[in-house]
Amino acid sequence: MNKIVIAIDGYSACGKSTTAKALAKTLSYAYLDSGAMYRAVTLYFCRNHIKLTNPKAIQKALENINIHFGVNSKTNLSETYLNGLNVEKEIRKMYISEKVSEISALVDVRRELVAQQRKLGKKKAVVMDGRDIGTVVFPDAELKIFMRADMRVRVARRQKELLDREQLVETETIRNNLEKRDRIDSTREESPLRQAEDAIVLDTTYLTFEEQLDKLIDLSIQKIWL
Ligand code: C5P
Repeated sequence: MNKIVIAIDGYSACGKSTTAKALAKTLSYAYLDSGAMYRAVTLYFCRNHIKLTNPKAIQKALENINIHFGVNSKTNLSETYLNGLNVEKEIRKMYISEKVSEISALVDVRRELVAQQRKLGKKKAVVMDGRDIGTVVFPDAELKIFMRADMRVRVARRQKELLDREQLVETETIRNNLEKRDRIDSTREESPLRQAEDAIVLDTTYLTFEEQLDKLIDLSIQKIWL
């Protein structure tokens, strides 16, 4: 039985994180939410008023940021910690979603987080989701998935997710945010969002969560038992 790296990339709100989390649980693999790391950095930059035009301030900020994941004993889910504080709820708020792509496009931020992600995935047996996992972080990942879904479905999914977190956000605001992030994420110079040549495309528009998960389990098992 092989230990593999499973890279799940794609646009925001296509179901990457929820399926990746469930897949990792099914396989008893570690799960790494790379988007949460970019969100945590964004929270630090917002709280400390870091100017994006000041490379020295960015570098210093990155030296002062420590991100780790810990399992919440009540929910058994992995949550994000920034310098020892649980920031899981805060980093999912809209003001972070509004800023995160701009900060994720900074070369220094990407280099730092990519290095950390490589370390975290070194032992394999990991499911990692993001935008550049199969292209930059783990170009040799044994299984690469590229997820997409129609915008209408993505907006509805994100709206429900926010409502579950007691945040009521208008459809239009969510659509604008997803479109803006797609644009910045796909056009930035450093590791833009794109489909790896050897990625399997999974369109989740008409799939239920269970169907998405079943497909990913099938694909993973084929690689693990190779
Ligand atoms: O996955 P999530 O939507 O939480 O990611 C938030 C943002 O973090 C993305 O819109 C993107 O700007 C950035 N990101 C990235 N590279 C990754 C993961 C996330 O640039 N590997």
